[in-house]
Amino acid sequence: MNRWQKLLAGSVVAPDELSSLFTVDTEPLVQVVKRYPMRITRHYLGLIEKPGDAIWRQCVPDLLELEDESQAEDPLDEEQLSPVPGLIHRYPDRVVWLVSSVCAVYCRFCMRKRRVGCTGIAGPGTRQAALAYIGAHPEIRDVVLSGGDPLLNEDDVLEEILAGLRLIPHLEIVRIGTRVPVTLPERITAGLCRMLKKFHPLYINTHFNHPREITAASARACARLADAGIPLGNQSVLLKGVNDDPQVMKRLMQLLLSIRVRPYYLHQMDLVKGTAHFRTSINRGLEIMEGLRGHTSGMASPYYAVDLAGGKGKVPLLPGYVRREDDALLFRSYRGEVVRYRDVDES
Ligand SMILES: *Cc1c(COP(=O)(O)O)cnc(C)c1O
Ligand code: SF4
Repeated sequence: MNRWQKLLAGSVVAPDELSSLFTVDTEPLVQVVKRYPMRITRHYLGLIEKPGDAIWRQCVPDLLELEDESQAEDPLDEEQLSPVPGLIHRYPDRVVWLVSSVCAVYCRFCMRKRRVGCTGIAGPGTRQAALAYIGAHPEIRDVVLSGGDPLLNEDDVLEEILAGLRLIPHLEIVRIGTRVPVTLPERITAGLCRMLKKFHPLYINTHFNHPREITAASARACARLADAGIPLGNQSVLLKGVNDDPQVMKRLMQLLLSIRVRPYYLHQMDLVKGTAHFRTSINRGLEIMEGLRGHTSGMASPYYAVDLAGGKGKVPLLPGYVRREDDALLFRSYRGEVVRYRDVDES
C-alpha cells in the first residue's frame, strides 16, 4: 500500500468513532450511514473545530438526509444521458466520464449521492467501452474525468485511462475533477504529478467550499500540480450553513487565488434527494456574487450557475447590473451608482 492508501484506510467510517472525539450523540446516524456511506479522512476531520461547524456539516451524516423524500435521486437525468455506462454525453463537444465511484470524504451534499460509495469501480471492460465511444465520436474534443474521485484510482490505472484518451486524435483537452487536494492532500504525490504532466493539455478542477479547507497541506498539493504545468480551477457548491455568506465566500475566493487556483464555478445546489437541508435561494447566491464583483480581484469571481433539471445544461446567473430604459441602458456599479449608457441603434 502507498502512504496515501494507508491514510485513506485510517479514515473514520462509522458514526460511533466520532463520539470518542466530540460530545455528540452519533447513535441515530447509523441509519443514515446505511443508506449513504460515510468516510472522513483524518486530515479533513482535523479541520473540524466544533460539531455543527462548516466542515462538520459537509462530512458528518445528518438525519435530515433521510427526511428529504421530495427530490429525485438523479434530477439531471445523468443515467438517461449515458450512451455507455459511466459516460454522460449532454453537450455537443464534451463528455463527463465517471472513472471512480469512491471518494476520500463522502460529502453529505453530493449531487451523485445515489451512486458514490455504492457501486464497484468501473472495471477495464467498461473503460474500453467508454474509450471506444469517445474514439467513435469525432465531435468530442473535451473529456471531463469525474466520479466519485478520479484521483482515488492508483497511478497506473489513471495512466492507462489518460494514455487511452491520448490515442484518440480528435480529443483536445482532458479535465480532471477532484476533491483530494481538500480531503486527502497526501494523494498529490511527486510521482502522480510526474505521470500527469505527460498528458498535457490537462486541466484540474478542484473543490474547495470554505476558507478553512485551505491549509498548508492543501496549498502544497496545489503547488505541486501547478508546478507540473496543470492549470487549476475550483468548483464550489453554495451550501447553507457552510459558505452562504458574502464575507466567507470572498475570503475563500481570495485564498484560492493565493494557492494558484482560479475560481471557475459556484454551483447552485442540485435538487438531489437527501440534500435539501443544504439549499439556499437563488437570491442568496446573487447577493454573494454581488459581494465579489468590484469588491475584490475580478479573477476571484466564479460563474454562478444552475444546472437545469433533465440534463438541459448549466446556466450562468448574474446580479441585475443592467436594465433598459428606452434607448439607454442603465448600469449599476458595484457601489450602487446608476450610470446611463447610450447604446448604438442597429435596427
Ligand atoms: C458540467 C458538465 C460539463 C462541463 O461543463 P463546462 O461548462 O464545459 O465546464 C459537461 N458535461 C456535463 C454532463 C456536465 O454536467
Ligand atoms: S468529492 Fe465530489 S463526488 Fe465525492 S462525495 Fe464529494 S461532491 Fe460527491
